[in-house]
Amino acid sequence: MAGESILVVEDNEANLRLFTYLLSSKGYAVRGATDAPQALELLRDFHPQMILMDLQLPGTDGYELTRRLKADPATSAIIIIALTAYAMRGDEEKALAAGCNGYITKPIDTRALPARIAEYLSSGARGPPAAR
Ligand code: MN
Repeated sequence: MAGESILVVEDNEANLRLFTYLLSSKGYAVRGATDAPQALELLRDFHPQMILMDLQLPGTDGYELTRRLKADPATSAIIIIALTAYAMRGDEEKALAAGCNGYITKPIDTRALPARIAEYLSSGARGPPAAR
């Protein structure tokens, strides 16, 4: 069973609730943040294995937050998976360029999500399975 901890950074409250519900029900310890400052505050004493990162955030966006976290030795090992919008082609390449380890496309396939998360967790920060 799961048990790893995951931070979801997502400004859409409905999406945040959906992720929290889906991942909690699979046994993950899930915390949520709705913007970059809240995420950084949480990360002071919460050390997740993975961050699900919405790219479009108010203020500091997901690309910038990813760059900051990957540049900081305290957070650089966290697997960061971008949440990209299906309609926004090009987001995936930009997300990987910013340092994300992979991406999941929204709208979320709720049945496929847990397997994707488990796959990313087991592959670690070595690289993005979706891009191989
Ligand atoms: Mn957003």
